[in-house]
Amino acid sequence: MPDKLNKTSARTPVAEIEHTRRDMFIDLAQELDNYAAHRDALTKLPNRALFMDRLEQALARAKIHNRLLALMLIDIHGLKNIDDTFGHDVGEHALLELATRLKNSVRAEDTVARLGGDEFAILLDDLSSINDAPPLADKILDTLNPPAIANDRKLAVTARIGISLYPVDGQDSGTLLECADIAVFRARDQDKSNYQFHSKDMSAKAFERRTLESSLRHAIEREELLLYYQPQVNVQTGKVSGVEALLRWQHPDLGMVSPSEFVPLLEETGLIVEAGQWALKTACIQTRTWHDHGFGNLRVSVNLSGRQFNDPTFVDAIEQVVRETAIVPNRLELEITESVIMRNTRTTVAALTSLGEMGVRLSIDDFGTGYSSLSYLKRFPIDTLKIDRSFIRDVISDTDDAAITRAIIGLGNSLNIDVIAEGVETKEQLEFLRSHHCDDIQGFLISQPLPAIEFSKFLEKTRNVKAI
Ligand code: C2E
Ligand code: CA
Ligand code: CA
Repeated sequence: MPDKLNKTSARTPVAEIEHTRRDMFIDLAQELDNYAAHRDALTKLPNRALFMDRLEQALARAKIHNRLLALMLIDIHGLKNIDDTFGHDVGEHALLELATRLKNSVRAEDTVARLGGDEFAILLDDLSSINDAPPLADKILDTLNPPAIANDRKLAVTARIGISLYPVDGQDSGTLLECADIAVFRARDQDKSNYQFHSKDMSAKAFERRTLESSLRHAIEREELLLYYQPQVNVQTGKVSGVEALLRWQHPDLGMVSPSEFVPLLEETGLIVEAGQWALKTACIQTRTWHDHGFGNLRVSVNLSGRQFNDPTFVDAIEQVVRETAIVPNRLELEITESVIMRNTRTTVAALTSLGEMGVRLSIDDFGTGYSSLSYLKRFPIDTLKIDRSFIRDVISDTDDAAITRAIIGLGNSLNIDVIAEGVETKEQLEFLRSHHCDDIQGFLISQPLPAIEFSKFLEKTRNVKAI
């Protein structure tokens, strides 16, 4: 600094300005040089040198913070054909459009690069789970799928993606690149757009997922979804008090698929809004027929996912079902988990209050496993706490589980909220819950979830006798 002061003090103000301007131009020129050396001239995306640099940096960070990275090499097939048939300008246009789509398909912090010719690469920094990679690859394929349009022509290309994962496939940039390259090679075996993981296990899983996902899209139209019903029984009276409606998927080849496999997929694809609405309506129609056959007090619980809950039309949709099926509102209970309730408190308060005003009951599912603050119990109109199965399982042998179960029952009693225990499988568990004044139970001790017709028989059988 003193050096600079000494030099400048010798110059006139005009000479000083000239000098500064020259410096600025030199800086700018260097920056432009630098930019050009690291960018692809056509797409302005990072080139191979910059990509490798970013990969090294990301690997260094991932090692320190224990993170996952995915490296995707994307081979676009068909560009050369476009060049040859329609001319270079049209080819460039298509390439530019694909580059923009790729860039828009990932987060700003991920790097999309053009490594050369028809080859692109994406560096996905900081994946939260390896399972995030297949949906991202699907999304990228979907983005590249529609044909590019140039001079009113539709220009279709095929994309083959090879994916390697850090730390699964390798620890350094060279190995990861090599693995992704091998995977691209495998992807080229297929004529259509597809992706392959270097690790065969991942490829198999992704394949399973993709087939499941596409058949799930048709499941609703083909009426392959159905509901099973599991009874809930009042501990003091021994009578059936309610029923939980549980989704099932009767897949034509795979048989009965469990909701723990397909509900997460329904949620990711957004199909849960439609499927959830179907489940709600079907459960209400079914319960109305049980009401009409002399079981007027039967309450039906329907599970709601977070995605449904955040849908702006959610309250209206429920109101419509209540109106159309003419179910008595307080015979309908909606089960929501704590984490869903806490995710967006302002809209949640509004939605739950509207439902409360309608007279629809609300239950907190898997209670005790989610959010740690209990103050929301006062803010929201909650009718039931459902003690999670994980506490009930060892309630006899594990003193912590027993203490938690007793505490939840005590909490419910003092706040005037019903408490139901789920996953009750043994008489001992039932006796424990009875002695601590739990209101209701649900579980294999009483019955597995049943098809509607079987549940009707169960209701008839227990009409005049205790179920427990
Ligand atoms: P959940 O709401 O906690 O449902 C209770 C699960 O426990 C059901 O599994 C039920 O079959 C099982 N279960 C009941 N009694 C016992 C028992 O005594 N022992 C054991 N080990 N298990 C018992 P299911 O039917 O496989 O459902 C799994 C999850 O799928 C549900 O957990 C719920 O989160 C979700 N799900 C089911 N139906 C729907 C739906 O219509 N909408 C939404 N959003 N999610 C649903
Ligand atoms: Ca439930
Ligand atoms: Ca549950």
